[in-house]
Amino acid sequence: MRTIGIIGGGQLARMLAMAAARLNFRTIILEPQAGCPAAQVANGQIIAAYDDPAALERLAAECDVITYEFENVPVSAAEMLAQALPVYPPPRALEVSQDRVSEKRFLNGCGIETARFHAIDNQEQLEQALADFSGKGVLKTRRLGYDGKGQRVFKGASDNAAGACAALGGVPLVLESLVAFEREISIIAARGTDGTIACYDPAENIHRHGILHTSTVPASITEAAAEAARLAATAILTALGYVGVIGVEFFVLADGTLIANEIAPRVHNSGHWTEAACVVSQFEQHIRAVTGLALSNGARHSACVMQNLIGDDIGDLPVWLARPNTLVHLYGKTEVRPGRKMGHVTWLA
Ligand code: AMP
Repeated sequence: MRTIGIIGGGQLARMLAMAAARLNFRTIILEPQAGCPAAQVANGQIIAAYDDPAALERLAAECDVITYEFENVPVSAAEMLAQALPVYPPPRALEVSQDRVSEKRFLNGCGIETARFHAIDNQEQLEQALADFSGKGVLKTRRLGYDGKGQRVFKGASDNAAGACAALGGVPLVLESLVAFEREISIIAARGTDGTIACYDPAENIHRHGILHTSTVPASITEAAAEAARLAATAILTALGYVGVIGVEFFVLADGTLIANEIAPRVHNSGHWTEAACVVSQFEQHIRAVTGLALSNGARHSACVMQNLIGDDIGDLPVWLARPNTLVHLYGKTEVRPGRKMGHVTWLA
């Protein structure tokens, strides 16, 4: 085992490539954008679409194992690769997480509670579903939504739903019941090729404009809630025969009950804190898992806060660099755009 192929070339792949290098692995990135964040630190890049058959064949020939940094990798590409070499996490994890309805059915099948939901294919179904939820709910695209994009919140019967399906592009939708949560948490966990499972401590997440702003560890939750998060992650990893790191997001209700929101079959933004506050980061943990090495136990040595540097936040760099006990991580993106993740900082409490 020497070379890891990574599908996707953004900051998550970049941090995976850096962790891989430290353990003597080579990395090759499949990504259509030349000079992407990951290619800047990897051993090679295949510049092609994620589903380009010739590129996939070349990737399979040059690598010993394949992994990916985002959940919208075409399942057909992952399955094609899986006929030639190990693909971790397994393509089934992509299939489940690419569609919010199949994701919720899967979670419910694992005994994990989610928001109630109705699949929505037209305006009439939306009106019926809203009536079932007393006019309250969150309408989301079933596929390809991220960072709160492709969503519409209904706060009560006075919210006019007319034209809502068309406004989201006439694509398949899901209406979720509006969860009155007290806070949002996520857990990063990993499963090795030998079935060993290791969980990091849950992080408490705050979003701004639908994008993760901060992750704070430890989260302000009870030990029972933390244990429930670990049990849910363990059930998911086991059910999928998973190998690699996964992120699971939850809403926490006032009584401590967890409601699963979504799973990300990859390293996760809310796990970036692990590089500063744990001996082994989520990135190294993922590399260890997909290459068949022993997992770290995921132990944390410090309390910390991770904050994303989004768009113009990058202008505060000198302030962060001057701050004590603060780790700065930049993604190699030259163009600053509103909402674009440029880097993150983690400070130890
Ligand atoms: P998502 O794209 O599913 O991660 O949703 C983005 C954000 O919208 C979440 O982090 C929550 O803050 C909020 N949200 C999503 N779904 C619901 C829901 N069913 N009830 C209440 N808030 C939600």
